[in-house]
Amino acid sequence: MKVMTVIGARPQFVKAAVVSRAFKEHRKDVQEVIVHTGQHYDANMSDVFFDDLKIPKPDFNLGIGGGSHGRNTGRMLEKIEALIINESPDCVLVYGDTDSTLAGALAASKLHVPVAHVEAGLRSFNKRMPEEINRILTDHVSTFLLAPTNTAKDNLFKEGFKKDNVFTTGDVMCDATLFYREMAKFPKEISSDHHDLSDFVLCTIHRAENTDEPARLKEILKGLGRCNKKIILPLHPRARSKISNYGIRLPDNILVIDPVGYLEMVWLESHCKMVATDSGGVQKEAYLLGKPCVTLRDETEWVELVSSGWNRLAGSDAELISGLIESFPAVAERPSLYGDGNAGKEIVNLLKF
Ligand code: UDP
Repeated sequence: MKVMTVIGARPQFVKAAVVSRAFKEHRKDVQEVIVHTGQHYDANMSDVFFDDLKIPKPDFNLGIGGGSHGRNTGRMLEKIEALIINESPDCVLVYGDTDSTLAGALAASKLHVPVAHVEAGLRSFNKRMPEEINRILTDHVSTFLLAPTNTAKDNLFKEGFKKDNVFTTGDVMCDATLFYREMAKFPKEISSDHHDLSDFVLCTIHRAENTDEPARLKEILKGLGRCNKKIILPLHPRARSKISNYGIRLPDNILVIDPVGYLEMVWLESHCKMVATDSGGVQKEAYLLGKPCVTLRDETEWVELVSSGWNRLAGSDAELISGLIESFPAVAERPSLYGDGNAGKEIVNLLKF
């Protein structure tokens, strides 16, 4: 069979690395055609992931990035549709919740090609998030809804999906963390002046709800600045340009570095004291590596992290952010929430129809 994988953004490269590795074990039966939409195009947001995680080079790169949601999604839709017609895949595989996910799913479903959605059923219940719109629409045109957790599966059942289409597979990001942590490496983005990294907080900020709201972004940075700890912030290009456009001065305890590759990110996550983030993937990686996480959002799709006690929602409340970083309520038990590292294999077995 032929599977067309449509990816375009950083977290999708991490997820696709896991499933592509599982596909390779079935290379006699399955041909994977990789389409990179170009949504993320900087070397440190794209190429480094293909190189470090040994993802096969994309068969097609659509070069579509940098525009608005509507423009990007529309242009992707047109090009992916043409590729599906030419390539005739048996299935189109999409990941997560970006414009690339939606474009791939919509193009395939209108051509009656089955769509498999990895990370189906996640919900923030906040439709102001572009990701929430992408997730809901993608799920509703998918044939194979690959839910990472029981919570995600239950969300789908509540929306009326049939049991036959929903599969709980575990989380491919858990597979990635378990597999790549052995290969973690010190980030070259940190200069030797800063090699004393005994007690630092790892922070990421990129969600539109934070970067596109100057007041929220200022409050978050104020909260981080009030802490008595060094903060390492690999800064997403969007957040960087917004901080500069808003004229925000970064507090002195924050060390801003360029975005790092996944292996460096896992190093930082493994060596930090704790994590503060608005990223979905980083919240889970913090848990998997045993680090408390202050989530810089008002809600999370990964609700089991909050129930476990390892994740606290701080929104953009400066006092709450600094308070939690200074003294995070202790937690002990860390049950397995995301599977045993075999989600990729599970997904490939399901798709070999
Ligand atoms: N990540 C990375 N380098 C960075 C920041 C994040 O490799 O500088 C990884 C992170 O470890 C996780 C993924 O990118 O695997 C998460 O992507 P992102 O936060 O962009 O998206 P989200 O998970 O929120 O959709």
